Amino acid sequence: MSKLKLLSKILRLKDLKITHFLFKNRDKELHLTVKPYKNGCRCPECRRRGRIVSQTTEFRRWEDLTLMGMKVLLWYTPKEIHCPTHGRVQETIPWAPTYSRITYRLEWRLCALCQIMTQKAAAEILKMAPSTLSDLLHRIITRVRRGHKIRGLVTLGVDEISFCKGHKYATLVYDLDRSRVLWVGLGKGRETIDRFFNEAVWSKNSSVSRYQHLNIRCLGHGLL
Ligand SMILES: [Zn+2]
Repeated sequence: MSKLKLLSKILRLKDLKITHFLFKNRDKELHLTVKPYKNGCRCPECRRRGRIVSQTTEFRRWEDLTLMGMKVLLWYTPKEIHCPTHGRVQETIPWAPTYSRITYRLEWRLCALCQIMTQKAAAEILKMAPSTLSDLLHRIITRVRRGHKIRGLVTLGVDEISFCKGHKYATLVYDLDRSRVLWVGLGKGRETIDRFFNEAVWSKNSSVSRYQHLNIRCLGHGLL
């Protein structure tokens, strides 16, 4: 097995190939030059393969999970491609979201740590400044929320649950056609449902007025 393949296996890198590696900063940083493996040149919008138009010479850098306290950094020069539908675009980076400076798996680890500890403690484990972590966390939340926009809603289901031994209530709104939760709000009754229509994030071409003929099904008792 070659050195690069071994390194790739140790780091559990998927969808990319290591072409070169280098230790820097007194072996505290591992720099990897990488390239997409069997999934390059794809349009970020439609995921179709496009023809390469140009390749920048400027390397972009992504931070990955640390390995035994060693920082792992990925380097790659993204290509510009021509998509038949979306025109000239920069190819999708399989290991990181567009414009992100960290990989998907570091994002996942960051969110997992922030759920169980303070941002300061998480920043110490991930070896980054608390302000950087906070900035990254906000970017992730904003991006994920953007993907949660409600679109193409036809059948809406409403249910209410009680917690704290029946002292508190929460209302859940589902998209029954797609079997997914759309919104969760504290409280019950009509006011809470009204809050859903005011607070929920609707996609650009969807608005509450377009959903006047929604099929609303009550899943619980005594709702609406
Ligand atoms: Zn496209």
